[in-house]
Amino acid sequence: MGKKLEGQVAIVTGASSGIGAGVAKSLAAAGAAVVVNYPVPSNKEAAEAVVAEIIAAGNKAISLQCDVSKESDVEQMFANTVTALGSVDILVNNAGIQKDAPFQDMSLDQWNLVISINLTGQFLCAREAVRTFIKQGIDTNKSKAAGKIICMSSVHEVIPWAGHANYAASKGGIMLMMKSLAQEFAHKKIRINSICPGAIQTPINRSAWETPEALESLLTLIPYKRIGQSEDIGNAAVWLASDDSDYVNGISLFIDGGMTLYPGFTTNG
Ligand code: NAD
Repeated sequence: MGKKLEGQVAIVTGASSGIGAGVAKSLAAAGAAVVVNYPVPSNKEAAEAVVAEIIAAGNKAISLQCDVSKESDVEQMFANTVTALGSVDILVNNAGIQKDAPFQDMSLDQWNLVISINLTGQFLCAREAVRTFIKQGIDTNKSKAAGKIICMSSVHEVIPWAGHANYAASKGGIMLMMKSLAQEFAHKKIRINSICPGAIQTPINRSAWETPEALESLLTLIPYKRIGQSEDIGNAAVWLASDDSDYVNGISLFIDGGMTLYPGFTTNG
């Protein structure tokens, strides 16, 4: 039997680091040709390093620059992907940032930047993916579905997060955008789901794990008592992108070592 994603093309946004890089490598190992997206020229080298690692492992990848919050960039990235690789079959809406501030001090710029990348960026990429999937139709040699979208949400789509109102609002927004799209496009055989990571060891949350004290404090929130790794998310992305999950549509898949289990109640609250 061939690899699970053989013949399929995946775009992973924000894939020059962290979870996106891990997901890109996992999808490529499962047979997909992967677009490693990065936002600005200063990320090109890191994106090229991810591409080189994928190619060295005998798999296929290219890098493409695109700021997901810019409509014309997103349209161009999808067009360039089809030109270079022939189709788009999987979108992983991963790009995201934090601009934390106590709410009374949060500037409109901090609010707008997080919403424009984390939420509007996912809207723009999902819209372009849906347009592309509908145009392409279903190719049963590749997949039972016309296309798959995986939105990178967070445990903070359900856990409120003081000092991070812009980020939590963006992830809460992703939850209902994802479910609305899953409902709207199921009849077109487009599957749309979210992954909700807990604490994954990446640059975005370095301060939460870079000292033993910080890590110890973080682990009080994680019943499984380890910080997550990008491969934990990559493995789930392969499943959600493959026909193994063909009857799964509109779910938020929490990958969090139990962070959403109210760990404060473990010893009777
Ligand atoms: P990261 O900082 O390593 O990755 C974020 C990526 O997004 C970077 O590669 C960055 O270049 C890219 N990016 C930023 N702005 C962009 C733009 N305008 N266009 C395209 N790309 C852009 O952090 P990460 O932890 O890997 O985060 C990836 C996703 O996972 C984010 O959506 C984040 O909210 C989510 N997440 C992470 C954790 C965690 O614990 N690390 C937990 C929950 C959710």
